[in-house]
Amino acid sequence: MKKRTNEKIWGIGFPNSIIDFDPIKTFNDLKECGTDEFIVCTCIYNGYRMVMPRNETRYIYSLEEGKVYFKPDMSFYKDCNLKPIESDDFKNNDVLQISTSEGKKIGINTSAWFCYFANGLIAKNHPEYAVENIYGSKDRLFLCWNNPDVRKYAFAVTEDIVSHYNISSIMADKIPQTVFELNTFSGRIDPIVRTLASFCFCEHCIKEASMSGIDLNEAKKKALEIANQSKKIPPHILNELTDELKGDHEIPLFLLDEPIFYHILKWRIDSVISFLSELKNRIQRIKKDVNLGVCYVPPVKIGHDATSPRSWLAAQSYKAASEIVDTIHAVIHWEDAAVRYDTSRAASSIGENCELNVHLKAYGSAKPQSIASLATSALECGADSLAFFCYDLMSDPMLKEIKHWANE
Ligand SMILES: [Zn+2]
Repeated sequence: MKKRTNEKIWGIGFPNSIIDFDPIKTFNDLKECGTDEFIVCTCIYNGYRMVMPRNETRYIYSLEEGKVYFKPDMSFYKDCNLKPIESDDFKNNDVLQISTSEGKKIGINTSAWFCYFANGLIAKNHPEYAVENIYGSKDRLFLCWNNPDVRKYAFAVTEDIVSHYNISSIMADKIPQTVFELNTFSGRIDPIVRTLASFCFCEHCIKEASMSGIDLNEAKKKALEIANQSKKIPPHILNELTDELKGDHEIPLFLLDEPIFYHILKWRIDSVISFLSELKNRIQRIKKDVNLGVCYVPPVKIGHDATSPRSWLAAQSYKAASEIVDTIHAVIHWEDAAVRYDTSRAASSIGENCELNVHLKAYGSAKPQSIASLATSALECGADSLAFFCYDLMSDPMLKEIKHWANE
């Protein structure tokens, strides 16, 4: 098979890719797309409803929130209060095992995709592990990365997967994202309140922050005062200004005026980096050749998924993470100009520190006739590798175009 480029190509998919489809066919398709490594989902944070154009058994399917698509070895969770819950829909199959064994036969490695600090199933059933906002309200999706039980579970899952499966890498997703969406039920939220209410004020964060010289209790008092002032601005005014009120206009001046919140933003990134460092060490202690990647949203286009994160608020720093991990998966599910701009920005932040893998949108509104030019744009702007998101959601014409691009 002739590959169009020397760059690495990643495939990505949900369990459906290798259970609903014949896995031999899937891996043959992936091979024809030039794929070197296939990222298979082992846990998704949210029950996305998917319409899969080529799927004959589950054309419309809702993903299982927070369950795992591998066979956990419960001895790894002896000391954990949190335990993995296996998928009901795919429980007769070990998705990760099938991916590694079928992939290897055709020369395609497997990466295990796991969502770490967002898990609707855990957050709803065990609010004690969830992020806690300034009003003491527990989140229903995001888990606190400073909670020792959450960290313990994250490490145990990773060690379980790395010990038992013949994978090449872990793709760590939701490391982390913001708590508050851009819009709430009543529309746009004041970005200043959004920022303050996205911080976690749980007891574990208070303790961790104090060790970095940050008084989170004081910050909380200040945050409540500021949020109360914001209540004077009626919702219809905020909603009239939706084109402007995204956080990028208001927050820089706010941070200059109230630097404690700048220090909190910085400390949040430090908390994530300390987690990633330990995660990498634990992986390497088991298998030296298993790499660690993180899945991050781009800084200059609002995220594509359920939470519309801003990377600065979501504690996602390309630069800081690039010093720890082997790959940054930049999820740039946008049109050509955004792919060019966001790839350039990512490449300049990351430098030569690690691999920059740009994930391109190959589903929904993405046009098959545009996929080749999106790939060219990402590579021209500094991507080291590409991933086409995702195998399950591609139409026949899209799959055909990617194969053509890989082999022309
Ligand atoms: Zn917390």
